[in-house]
Amino acid sequence: MPSRCVAAGCSNTSSESVSVYKFPKQETLLKQWTKQVQRTRANWVPTASSTLCSEHFELSSLHFSINLCSYLYKKKTTILYF
Ligand SMILES: [Zn+2]
Repeated sequence: MPSRCVAAGCSNTSSESVSVYKFPKQETLLKQWTKQVQRTRANWVPTASSTLCSEHFELSSLHFSINLCSYLYKKKTTILYF
């Protein structure tokens, strides 16, 4: 079973155009990601299999990108957005 993106209204799975990212284990990052999801899903809590897809990351702002980047396998400068 491919992992589905947990964002509200999104059920993307990994494909040629979309990547999915597992939630980070590092606590600060995990909180940041969780908070983003909770903006649209108030009582949502992450599980070991929770993922977000690349649709929610944007190349631009440097805001908290250092931590996020290191998690995203040093891919790009990214920020989480919904
Ligand atoms: Zn998504």
